[in-house]
Amino acid sequence: MKQFEPKVLQLHNYEITKLLNYTMATDRIVGIDLGTTNSLVAFMQGESPVVIPGEDGLNLVPSVVALDEKNQPVVGNAARKYLTETPERAVYSIKRLMGRGVDDVQEELKYFPFRLAKDLQAGEVLRITLGDKTFTPPEISALILRQLKRNAERFFAAPVTKAVITVPAYFNDAQRQATKDAGRIAGLEVLRLVNEPTAASLAYGLDKKQNGIVAVYDLGGGTFDISILKLHDGIFEVIATNGDTHLGGDDIDNLLITIALDDTLGDLGLDLRRNPEAVQAIRKAVIEAKIALSSQPSVKLDVELPGGKHYLREITREQFEQLIQPVIDRTIGPCKQALKDAGLKPEQIEEVVLVGGSTRIPKVRALVKELFHREPHTDLNPDEVVALGAAVQANILGGGSEATENMLLLDVTPLSLGIEVAGGVTDKVILRNSTIPASATQFYTTQIDGQANVAIHVLQGERELAKDCRSLARFDLKGIPPMAAGMARIEVKFLIDANGILNVSAREQRSGKESEIQVQPSYGLTDEQVEGMILDSFDSAEEDFRQRQIIEARNETATILAALDKGKKSPAWGHLTTDEKKKIAKMEKALAAVNNEDDYQAIRKAIEALNQGSTRLAELMMDTAVSTALKGKTMEEADMGEGPTAPHPMAKAEFE
Ligand code: ADP
Ligand code: MG
Repeated sequence: MKQFEPKVLQLHNYEITKLLNYTMATDRIVGIDLGTTNSLVAFMQGESPVVIPGEDGLNLVPSVVALDEKNQPVVGNAARKYLTETPERAVYSIKRLMGRGVDDVQEELKYFPFRLAKDLQAGEVLRITLGDKTFTPPEISALILRQLKRNAERFFAAPVTKAVITVPAYFNDAQRQATKDAGRIAGLEVLRLVNEPTAASLAYGLDKKQNGIVAVYDLGGGTFDISILKLHDGIFEVIATNGDTHLGGDDIDNLLITIALDDTLGDLGLDLRRNPEAVQAIRKAVIEAKIALSSQPSVKLDVELPGGKHYLREITREQFEQLIQPVIDRTIGPCKQALKDAGLKPEQIEEVVLVGGSTRIPKVRALVKELFHREPHTDLNPDEVVALGAAVQANILGGGSEATENMLLLDVTPLSLGIEVAGGVTDKVILRNSTIPASATQFYTTQIDGQANVAIHVLQGERELAKDCRSLARFDLKGIPPMAAGMARIEVKFLIDANGILNVSAREQRSGKESEIQVQPSYGLTDEQVEGMILDSFDSAEEDFRQRQIIEARNETATILAALDKGKKSPAWGHLTTDEKKKIAKMEKALAAVNNEDDYQAIRKAIEALNQGSTRLAELMMDTAVSTALKGKTMEEADMGEGPTAPHPMAKAEFE
């Protein structure tokens, strides 16, 4: 028999690891709920979606980002302490700034301690200051996404590069683009953006009825969404959406904070308004109190203030309910409007789904029941249901499984899209609540004799006048040959893809002149900017490198242990001496002991030792190793053969 070289087995192991990684990476598309308050990552485990916990064992990752003393980013629960300790180095609710400009966010600045960069120009993408650095909102969101990506990679012990991310139904084009940019910066290919209420209905759609009308009521930390969905033959169709991008648990928190600030001024003579540390401490305490009031009749607030004084107050549920009534009543209007848009009476709603942490408040549940004349569903955890649905969608995009085989998904565009025409009037091309993907064509003509160029101004919104709508893009169709006014036949085509992102093209039919634009939102990042951010990001930072090394080392451990297991079951094992077996067992134990530590070099050393120690076994079982490698290869080939994701069948019908 030819002398066996341990290197060869290592090579096999390496190849197998690579193949396993490859199949894992292609299989595992995760679903992400990138929330204003909390973010989560989930994936489809067999038949049902599950949330992937972080290293702290918790499912919810607070959407908080801070820079530590070494200017390294900290995300989630670990970042929360910075909100009080070094608030100038921390940020929360960044989702409120996604895809928005300075003018848009003035209202937010009244409630949130965002520190905008001092040198911002009008029309520029926002940047906010953390310590002595500035970041755009997509970069901050990317840090949250990267944390979720890492949690998933830790969980799978394999790279995760593809995701489905959810957005509020009300997000406009700019906000959607910003979310996609955040994904790219985080090293995630965003396969699809899905509206949050749609994702929630997907999560609930599993194993549920085939037909019916569903209302999804989502009251989270910062946004309120109401969606009316129609289920027919297992197909979801969103028939109406409405909501308020500025309504949620944060508003309740702010009410309680205002009371506390008034109290401390009145009773203790302390003006804490300009004391961010005190306000943060109060915020933390009132949120805890609010959560407690969802399950108990009263709560005692006790906040230690800077200087050692205590703010004490008892709040009963009754008082609390009275206080928040105006906030939760603000959800009534959008619900009624959505019903009206869908052409439905409340009695026609057959199922009501609750989403968002704030729907845990009993008073909210009572209001929902009253609005839709029906007891709402609460089977799934309201703050996880969106991520779970995103995982279902990820699974569908990844080729599906038995559980999702017959599910399709239709979504709607939340705002009308149109063109500015003569007199500064908005001409709607695609109406709000149209099912997407969608396309529509309108014909226009020239106003002036011999007009060679026409300006095309793309608008989003419901208002009559162009100046009251959001300007999405402007472009010109040039070089129209001279003709009398009204003779040109300009075909303008709008196409919204499945992510809600708009392409507009214009063509003068007589001359064949064409012009096309993918709408770049007013406050969007350019591709070059995103590329730059990917390069500048913390991807190349030491910590990331270390994390990768750990993941890779653990992969190798899994591979060698699996090979060893096989070896033990093979006839080869019987040919080893008791001493050799003992030696192997000892090294196996040593490897297991270091494998869960964060020291990749130690893991590698232990792998190396086990590799060396099992040379004779390897020699004896070489055939098995080779056949395992071949098996891996077959898996890869089968995977490659599948080709790209199948097109959305319902979408196709839309285009015709
Ligand atoms: P988002 O989708 O905006 O990220 P979530 O769905 O995670 O938000 O909801 C977060 C909000 O829910 C916060 O305002 C939080 O305080 C609130 N919340 C969570 N649990 C409860 C509870 N038991 N009672 C009342 N409010 C709650
Ligand atoms: Mg949410």
